[in-house]
Amino acid sequence: MQKAIDNDLLARSVTEKITSTGSDDAAAKEPITFTDFRYLGQFFNTYLVFAGDEGLLLLDQHAAHERIILERLKKAEGQKVISQQLLMPEVVSLNPSQVALFPGYIDFLRQIGLEIEIFGRDAIVVKALPAILSSIQARALVCDIADQLSDQNRASSLQEKKEKIFAALACRAAIKANSSLSSEEVEALCRDLEATPFNLTCPHGRPISIKFSLSEIERMFKRK
Ligand SMILES: [Zn+2]
Repeated sequence: MQKAIDNDLLARSVTEKITSTGSDDAAAKEPITFTDFRYLGQFFNTYLVFAGDEGLLLLDQHAAHERIILERLKKAEGQKVISQQLLMPEVVSLNPSQVALFPGYIDFLRQIGLEIEIFGRDAIVVKALPAILSSIQARALVCDIADQLSDQNRASSLQEKKEKIFAALACRAAIKANSSLSSEEVEALCRDLEATPFNLTCPHGRPISIKFSLSEIERMFKRK
């Protein structure tokens, strides 16, 4: 019985934290820093666990990496970005209605390092990929963009479309949940996240990290 109460308390505390971290005032809060925390390990190959003098910190590895990539993509637009020329341009087959979505976006895609050409009615040739997204296959990249440009997103403005493309590509390129990370990878992720703006929420508005203060933990154990 006692256990059930504790679980309930824990669940409620987590829910409160999620709602407070996910709210609009998140941007006004302190950006994340790992200076006072040391890495303990990975939980469920999805969450990174850190301990500090003041409490515990849980980090969602996918959400964190997604935000890092999204901000890099946004920064890349309009700057000279690093793209990787493919040794062999890759032909991606699509249906003609999908191909027809691309012509208005070729310049924008070049700005973020993706060089494509329309290839007949039903294919697109990928000549270079953005270095930031080099973990994604050319085919998946083109299909994700076609999805974001497709009919169901017709109502949105050009700016909204661009943001949707960025969010979809960031999601695709980010470290997945359920993948094991080395401590070097964790360290790099933390360093990159600290240097990233809006590092409290992922592009979909979910929290990237959740903190448990020592006093909250003590309350959960009924020490206080
Ligand atoms: Zn995602």
